[in-house]
Amino acid sequence: MTHDIHPAPQEAMGVNPWRNRKLSRRVYPKATPRLVGVKLWSGVHEECGIFGVYGHPEATNLTYLGLYALQHRGQEGSGICSSDGRHLFLEKSRGLVADIFNEKRLRRLPGHIAIGHNRYSTAGSSILKNVQPIVANFALGTLAIAHNGNLVNALKLRASLEDEGAIFQSTSDSEVIVHLIAHSKGDFYERVLHALKQISGAFSLLILREKELIAVRDPYGVRPLSLGMKDGAYIVASETCAFDLIGAIYIRDIEPGEVLIIGEEGLRSLRLLNSTRRAFCVFEFIYFSRPDSNIFGGVNVNEMRKEFGRQLARESHTEADLVIPVPDSGVPAAIGFSEESKIPFDFGLIRNHYVGRTFIEPKHSIRHFGVKIKLNPVRKLLEGKRLVVIDDSIVRGTTSKKIVKMLREGGGAAGVHLMISSPPTIGPCFYGIDTPTRKELIASTHLIEEVRKYITADSLAYLSLEGLKKIVPDPQDYCTACFDNNYPLSFPGEHLEQMDLLFR
Ligand code: AMP
Repeated sequence: MTHDIHPAPQEAMGVNPWRNRKLSRRVYPKATPRLVGVKLWSGVHEECGIFGVYGHPEATNLTYLGLYALQHRGQEGSGICSSDGRHLFLEKSRGLVADIFNEKRLRRLPGHIAIGHNRYSTAGSSILKNVQPIVANFALGTLAIAHNGNLVNALKLRASLEDEGAIFQSTSDSEVIVHLIAHSKGDFYERVLHALKQISGAFSLLILREKELIAVRDPYGVRPLSLGMKDGAYIVASETCAFDLIGAIYIRDIEPGEVLIIGEEGLRSLRLLNSTRRAFCVFEFIYFSRPDSNIFGGVNVNEMRKEFGRQLARESHTEADLVIPVPDSGVPAAIGFSEESKIPFDFGLIRNHYVGRTFIEPKHSIRHFGVKIKLNPVRKLLEGKRLVVIDDSIVRGTTSKKIVKMLREGGGAAGVHLMISSPPTIGPCFYGIDTPTRKELIASTHLIEEVRKYITADSLAYLSLEGLKKIVPDPQDYCTACFDNNYPLSFPGEHLEQMDLLFR
């Protein structure tokens, strides 16, 4: 059977439309929600970073720094909501943390409690109203919410909430949680538990109220969330790299299924439903988390990536002169591969770290500009050499194809053997990693040899799923759905194809 491969159109790289339109909002308890027409809700993919502080006079500044350290988890927009014990204050915009916040803006966020959120860029949803924290008023006061993850039953919940008269301001599934809390009965904690028991999917959450901070992790623990401490104040962050920047110490992870209330009386833990299994996202190790972070019970991401590279070298022997990484995410695996295979390592592709969204791409004059602006081969190093090139994953295949071409034409490589430090990506993620639809995932519709031909490499190898599971501690506790279509959290009675449709 033959397959046509249609590379995805190059990412549009026009002028950043929001750079000069910094919007801010101060939220007072009496603010009324605005009606914004939501015609069609297509499911927004939340692949984000969250950070919170309780009990520090510099809560906002620490949150700003925390978001800075978590910038890799989301570049579409950021926000901080603080509390001085009586009122909540909100500042949020689209763009990068460093561009959004300045001293003046941070001064508008007083208080000793704060939460922050970085939102990931995904097509069709880059609108300010989807930038978090989301702030809402309800019967018991005001609350702000920052969410990392994706709910799998948000569409159904949203439809029934709308039937009951709820008016949504955004297309983000995180707003469903806000409405569920507002529609529940009882005291605040009863409402939170009642709301959270109705949602299904991946959620690491921070909820801010006037006098407390609540950290929640879904019963499967899909996304990471850690608790730390600085100067006697509690800190919560998606990844521990954010603790390092502010000089906080790591205490422990928020447990899967835990609702941790941080308030004037200290810490108090409530439990959501007990889960029958864990489903930590293995892709956090492969691509998403920063290598200097320790996640899922203190496992270092750099170590994991190096071990993936070692295992890949054990599985796929190749005659070559040099191992080079596709920077940055391929670097630790390439070091591991080189150590195991004894093939020397070097940086054969140099990355420009200052590529933002603001430059204007020339129309026709320069070919493959999108990759060239980011990566450039070191010809003096590569010329005439047989290369092992390590990247962390192939999604659509467009990046790899351009890199192989660049290494041959610009770098003068004599051979290009592409080695991927994860198994073939065959399933989209419904829990918060932004992967395209199944039919766009090249490995889901093509044999490995067909992918090799498409990207024009001399050889192509992936880490085996068995190899990956050998490296990851307690692999039964991980979600590997993107590699084996084994989805731990699905709609009851619904099929994968329907989920594909619902989520796109
Ligand atoms: P593609 O050109 O679609 O095959 O993309 C492959 C590249 O995207 C690899 O270099 C990965 O490091 C990177 N990548 C993998 N997953 C993601 C993701 N969720 N978001 C952004 N980039 C990714």
